[in-house]
Amino acid sequence: MTERPAKIRLFVDAVLGEGQALILRDQAHYLVGVMRQGVGDAITVFNGRDGAWRAEITEAGKRQVVAVVQRQSAPQQDPPDLWLLFAPIKKARTDFIVEKATELGAARILPVQTAHTNSERIRTDRLQAHAVEAAEQCGGTFVPEVCDLQKLDRLLADWPEGRRLMFCDESRAGHASPLEQLRASGGDGPWAILIGPEGGFSEAERARLAALPFAVPVSLGPRILRADTAAAAALSAWQMALGDWR
Ligand code: SAM
Repeated sequence: MTERPAKIRLFVDAVLGEGQALILRDQAHYLVGVMRQGVGDAITVFNGRDGAWRAEITEAGKRQVVAVVQRQSAPQQDPPDLWLLFAPIKKARTDFIVEKATELGAARILPVQTAHTNSERIRTDRLQAHAVEAAEQCGGTFVPEVCDLQKLDRLLADWPEGRRLMFCDESRAGHASPLEQLRASGGDGPWAILIGPEGGFSEAERARLAALPFAVPVSLGPRILRADTAAAAALSAWQMALGDWR
């Protein structure tokens, strides 16, 4: 008998292995009420660590679905060691940044407070849920961690050794191409991207960033991009120059 293909991908916070029974309560309404899944239907599950697995639904209630894990369908694929640091903006645009960062292969997402940051508070749990949803949609097996908001100053003072920083500096708009700038900076190893807020970086921040030995100031072309566009553009340029698009 031919196997039914799995159309739905779900992140599960559980150990995955052959024969493991998964009790799905939070996703029961989505699976049964929205996607009309029933007993015998197959789904793909992943936990961010162990690749993707095929599971078959053995119980389909409105409040609880049980699925039994059958076999691994794809190996774990982690993104390059790339962090995205960004200053939170309006809610919908911040959501967009987290979603695109997940799709474009950021390993960690770090909201930072800068001198001109518009938003003082963020809901990390909500942003983490967006990252999970984006990983489910894009076929990924990895979910980046979304960290709590922290002060950029403090993060820079405690910067991990060996990690370089692609400092997206709007004052350099139109200078050399980002691909050339990144490739000329030495290449492989852990990296981070820094995107400023709508108001841009303050002069003091820009001077401090430019003086850091691990920072590589980069232009993202001749136009000033909105912060959400800049995040997607910078991630794409980095993946193309040094990451997993090569
Ligand atoms: N209000 C600022 C101005 O007019 O100069 C623009 C800030 S921009 C909306 C937000 C962030 O996106 C910047 O801090 C920078 O990190 C990044 N960015 C936007 N356009 C850029 C460019 N052409 N080159 C480098 N970074 C850019």
